[in-house]
Amino acid sequence: MKKIIYPIICILLASCGRGDVNKNNSNNALSDEHFENYKNRFIEALWKVYPGWASSQGYHKYDDVLVVPDEKERDAEVKFAAAYLDSLKLFSVDSLSDNNKTDYHMIENQLLSAIWSVKEMKSWEWNPTEYNVCGAFAEMLNGNYDSLDVRLHNFNLKMKNIPEYYKAAKKNIEDPTEEHTKLAIEQNLGGISVFEKDLKEALKKSKLSNEEKSKMLERADDAVKAIKNFTDWLKKMKNDKPRSFRLGKELYVKKFEYDIQSGYTIDQIYDKAIAHKKELHEKMFELADKLWTKYMDKTPKPADKLVEIKSVIDKLSEIHVKPDSFQSAIEQQMPVLIQFIKDKDLIYIDPSKPLVVRREPDYMAGVAGASISAPGPYDKGGNTYYNVGSLSGWEKDKAESYLREYNKYILQILNIHEAIPGHYTQLVYSNQSPSLIKSLFGNNAMIEGWAVYGERMMLESGYGNNEDEMWLMYYKWNLRSTCNTILDYSVHTKNMSKEDAMNLLINEAFQQKTEAENKWRRVSVTQVQLCCYFTGFTEIYDFREEMKTKLGDKFNLKQFHEKFLSYGSAPVKYIKELMLAEMNSK
Ligand code: ZN
Ligand code: ZN
Repeated sequence: MKKIIYPIICILLASCGRGDVNKNNSNNALSDEHFENYKNRFIEALWKVYPGWASSQGYHKYDDVLVVPDEKERDAEVKFAAAYLDSLKLFSVDSLSDNNKTDYHMIENQLLSAIWSVKEMKSWEWNPTEYNVCGAFAEMLNGNYDSLDVRLHNFNLKMKNIPEYYKAAKKNIEDPTEEHTKLAIEQNLGGISVFEKDLKEALKKSKLSNEEKSKMLERADDAVKAIKNFTDWLKKMKNDKPRSFRLGKELYVKKFEYDIQSGYTIDQIYDKAIAHKKELHEKMFELADKLWTKYMDKTPKPADKLVEIKSVIDKLSEIHVKPDSFQSAIEQQMPVLIQFIKDKDLIYIDPSKPLVVRREPDYMAGVAGASISAPGPYDKGGNTYYNVGSLSGWEKDKAESYLREYNKYILQILNIHEAIPGHYTQLVYSNQSPSLIKSLFGNNAMIEGWAVYGERMMLESGYGNNEDEMWLMYYKWNLRSTCNTILDYSVHTKNMSKEDAMNLLINEAFQQKTEAENKWRRVSVTQVQLCCYFTGFTEIYDFREEMKTKLGDKFNLKQFHEKFLSYGSAPVKYIKELMLAEMNSK
């Protein structure tokens, strides 16, 4: 496959030619100082335009504001983006520090993407799930960033605009997709308890005056009415020509560019995913065949290769921890992973910011089995937690099926992905080159790609003693992100049917029916998101292989990892550009 290294070489030549600028430190310092000021102004202005986003990131100055999503608001968004794009052009990227270079690209992408979303993507017209106030209000009650009374006071002020908010939503919506309409009804009705129940409980604990309390309950009533009115309207809406949930090629290509910011086009990534799937199947078949007698005894081998692989995977999935030792198994794995990385000299891990494994807090329950909570950009001193779902109280069958999914092998890969050297390690590195821009617009393909790359890199380094079982299960896990990409692109641009999608997920990616059904639901209400794992992984892996070839004997894996992560959560293509430039200047 053709790699797009040509444009990168062009950029290298260009910046080599302007070597004088780079050597002139005082010039650099001035540009960087101006750019820092620009960034500060930009963030302040950003929060004014997007107060809800500000609150969700831990910036609470505009907690009392609920923006009505009408035409005036969209105009303001576009004007803001255009103005900051204009002033961004005053800087020359080449004269900035590496950290600011990547920030520059990320701001530019964010602003272009905002304009495109309003004017071209127009999901404000066809995606009713964009209208839901419940989550933001729930966060105000759950948060502990300020006293309950202060939070409730802001809650009250913010509630004022709810009726207007849903009125504007109704005006915006036109020929929505059936899938998003259905989901919007579910989500809005599901969140209504914030106003019907949670608020009342919070008010009981507060010291607000009775007058203010009753005023709030009145407003909460109006909020509930507005939400129910909106969902009733959606239910009864005459929607003769609903839009298809399939995004279509033109919008998809653009969304991929803005969301992923890859050095590859989506077509290149798709071709790579198809080839990778084939390669994984071949390797898996070889391993399953080798393991057959050990696990399947005298059972005759099925004629179909995929069925043979699936049988061995199912058998291996039976090896798992007991429900009550799920969390302790994860805890015990952390020092093992750290020791392995030290022994193999793979990457330095700063011991001063340890990862805290904890039972998943109640408000997160049921969301994900395991996840990382990092402190927000405005809360630098906070802990990083590894949240582990508790299986206590689960029905036996449900727990068993969950534990088979996160069996002995997959659980280790999950820990590598979420914690070490995956998300947690990447986070520690990105905090060392602090950039508010990267915390806010952090590139998901880079972040997820790193975690997926980490899985592969650990196994290649001998983690799991190169056991066939471990590799087979790893391939199954890797097949998931590969097929996510194939699924997303095929469904949104190639009209893939549900039947073909189920065949891909169940028979070719060895997923359980429930998992496949959930994935189908996800792909029918999101676009591009499912591609970030495989795309990021492929870019990082290909780049590493390219560096190995370029550097030969001088290539050092540890140095590569540390250097790569030192740029923070920037798109891989920019990290690559900077690393190659530095290498060439030596
Ligand atoms: Zn079992
Ligand atoms: Zn992840």
